[in-house]
Amino acid sequence: MDAAAPAGLRYPWEQAPGEGEATEVAEGVLWMRLPLPMKLDHVNVYALDDGAGWTIIDTGFASKRSRAIWESLLAGPLAGKPVTRVIVTHHHPDHVGLAGWFQTEKAADLLMPRTGWLMARMLQLDVQDVPNAESIAFYESAGMEAEILAQRRSERPFNFADVTAPLPLGYTRLKEGDVIRMGARDWDVRMGNGHAPEHATFWSRDDNLVLAGDQILPSISPNIGVYATEPEADPVADWLEACERFAGFGRGDHLVLGGHKLPFTGLPTRMRQLIENHHGALERLLDFLDTPKAAGDCFAPLFKRKIGSGEYGLALVEAVAHLSHLHQAGLASRTRRADGAWVYQKVTTGE
Ligand SMILES: [Zn+2]
Repeated sequence: MDAAAPAGLRYPWEQAPGEGEATEVAEGVLWMRLPLPMKLDHVNVYALDDGAGWTIIDTGFASKRSRAIWESLLAGPLAGKPVTRVIVTHHHPDHVGLAGWFQTEKAADLLMPRTGWLMARMLQLDVQDVPNAESIAFYESAGMEAEILAQRRSERPFNFADVTAPLPLGYTRLKEGDVIRMGARDWDVRMGNGHAPEHATFWSRDDNLVLAGDQILPSISPNIGVYATEPEADPVADWLEACERFAGFGRGDHLVLGGHKLPFTGLPTRMRQLIENHHGALERLLDFLDTPKAAGDCFAPLFKRKIGSGEYGLALVEAVAHLSHLHQAGLASRTRRADGAWVYQKVTTGE
C-alpha cells in the first residue's frame, strides 16, 4: 500500500541483477529477475545449487521473452547444469507461469502447495472470450466505476492461460511442516495465506535464509484481494493470521528473499509493519463508513494516493477484501444499493 522504504530494514544489494544475470546472495543461492509487463515490472526468481542440478524457486510469466531469458540464464549463470526441480510458492501467474514449460521441456519435477496447483490448473482451463456473468455481477457488487465496467463488458478479460504454460498432470505437494533439502540446506516449509491461498515459504535450518515469495515483501504491501471465484472469502483475516504466526519466527539477521523488490534484513520490523498497515487501513476505512459506501468509493482512505487505471482492478479487489473483513467481523453492515453494489456502513453500538 505505501511505497516508502520503511525504517529498520536493510537492503544488502542496492541493485537488482540485470537481464540474464544472477547475483549470488549466499553460497549456492542465485537471485535472478524476469520482466513483467505491468506497473510492478519484475519478479524475483532463485536457483539453489543441488550439486548435480538446480532447484529453482518461481518462474516468471510464460512469454517468448521470459523463455529467452531463462535460456540465457541456464547457459550462463546456471552453467548448463539441469534444473531438476521447480518449486512454485503460489499460483499467481508471475510465479507459476513457466512451471509447465520446465516440466515438459526441461524434464524438471514440480513441487508446490496443493491449493496452488489446483487453482493454477483450474484457471488455465477457464478461458473466457468475454467476461462471464458471475464476474460482471461481482464487479457490480463492488461498485466498479460505470465507464470501466462498460469497457470490461466488451473486452476479452485477462486470461490466466495467456501468461502461463500448460501444466501437465503430476506434481508433488508441499505442505505445512515439511522439511525439504535444497541448496545444501534443510528448510522448514511454512504456509502463508491471504495473498494467495496456501502460499509456501521456506525457512533455512542451517543459516539465515528465508524464501518468502509474495507472503513477505519489503517496501510494498502484498495485494490482498477478493475475487468472483470466492466472493465471501476473508483474505484479510487469513493474511493477519499468517503474519502473526510468521512474526514469531522472524529474526533480525534473517535475509529475506522475496518475490519482488530487494532482499532485505529486519524481518521482525517488517512483520510488525505488514500487520500494522492493515490494522491502520481498516481503522481509516471504518471511519470513512459514516455513510454507506461501495468498494469503488473507498480508495482514498485505503491507499492514501491516486489510483491510476493500470492499478484499478487490483485496488478494487483489495477494497472489497477490507470492507468484507469489516462486515464479517461485525463492524460494518452491508446492504444492496439500487445499482446492485454492496454498500457498507459502520455499525454504531451502545450509546
Ligand atoms: Zn503473488
